[in-house]
Amino acid sequence: MMTRTASAWRVLVLLGALGLAGGAGASEGHQEEPEHEGMAAMKAQMAGKAPGHHGGVHWGYTGAGGPAHWGDLKDEYILCKIGQNQSPIDIGPVVEARLQPITFDYGAEPLEVINNGHTIQVNRGGGAIMVDGQSFRLLQFHFHGPSEHTVGGKHYPLEMHLVHRSADGHLAVVGVFLKEGEENPALAAVWEHMPEQAGGKARAEKVSLDVNALLPEDRSYFRYSGSLTTPPCSEGVRWLVLREPVEVSAEQIRRFREVMEANNRPVQPLHARKILTPF
Ligand SMILES: [Zn+2]
Repeated sequence: MMTRTASAWRVLVLLGALGLAGGAGASEGHQEEPEHEGMAAMKAQMAGKAPGHHGGVHWGYTGAGGPAHWGDLKDEYILCKIGQNQSPIDIGPVVEARLQPITFDYGAEPLEVINNGHTIQVNRGGGAIMVDGQSFRLLQFHFHGPSEHTVGGKHYPLEMHLVHRSADGHLAVVGVFLKEGEENPALAAVWEHMPEQAGGKARAEKVSLDVNALLPEDRSYFRYSGSLTTPPCSEGVRWLVLREPVEVSAEQIRRFREVMEANNRPVQPLHARKILTPF
């Protein structure tokens, strides 16, 4: 446990040093450590001090750094504890509403797959969706196992999150459930380059992936206002969870769970929110 936490921390410091870490909230929190923070932590470590306010505990999914403690680990993570619009949620009763379809405009591009210790993530340089008449550019997509959102209390084996950002900095995340069935050839291209160790990074110039191939045929969706599902748990995220799951093989599920221990935040209270779905 200590070894894992320490190595996950080193990975984030490394990502920060490489300039890979985005700004807060820019990538659904999976690369949320700004560079200066990584540098400060590195200096603190060199000075023999543990980073962070609480004995150097970094966030994760178990123990002292687990989801129940995220809001106490750093001041910036306070919304994880007191937010009223948190994600994920259980998708129970829905309200039918006049909603426009999401327009997907994804293309084929070379893959860059990273293992950041919290998830397996594919960084993207292009592609976009249209929501509310606004364009949101695809930044990255990544995976959770088991699924973070549940439907009627039931988890799917995996869930993919496609993280998008508008020109004015708003986030829209498309969630796709993955269920056991036929092998998924598009996913196979990603899994083939999945780094087994945290901090691993695989670039595959010759394998280009059409992200459309990872989406179900039916693009109907559940919509609600939520948050990043990882610290700092920032709110104001447009969540668009596709209703139809995509099939992946039992072996593909097993492979992910072998590399990544359970990385799902438990479902959060809905409070005053409604879940909408198009007519
Ligand atoms: Zn996610």
